[in-house]
Amino acid sequence: MATARNLKTWTLVLRCYACDGKFTQRHLTFDRVSALPRMLPCPFCTARPGRRDGPSQSVETHHVVDLEDETDHFYRKTMSGDMWHFAAGCSNWPLEDFIELDGYPVRGELCNECRALANFS
Ligand SMILES: [Zn+2]
Ligand SMILES: [Zn+2]
Repeated sequence: MATARNLKTWTLVLRCYACDGKFTQRHLTFDRVSALPRMLPCPFCTARPGRRDGPSQSVETHHVVDLEDETDHFYRKTMSGDMWHFAAGCSNWPLEDFIELDGYPVRGELCNECRALANFS
């Protein structure tokens, strides 16, 4: 589903090419995920990716250590219900008056439609 895909966000863990420091960026759209390693200054040593002068003319970028799809990390249920949803493409995905968790819910049930969507993605 196109709209669900556009809403998808990612957690990106980068390692600085200059100092090896690791830093994390959350809630990124995919455009940002592909752009950040090439443009984000390192928060530790302020190294800024880019083209280096020199014989190799190499382009320095931060290393991508980890990239996680955040969609599965959010669970929503309506205020009154006790069924948890975790796929934004679900026809019952709560859009208003919902409670949101960013961890696995300990109480309540997981929606079957969400499970089916998760297995297909
Ligand atoms: Zn650095
Ligand atoms: Zn659902």
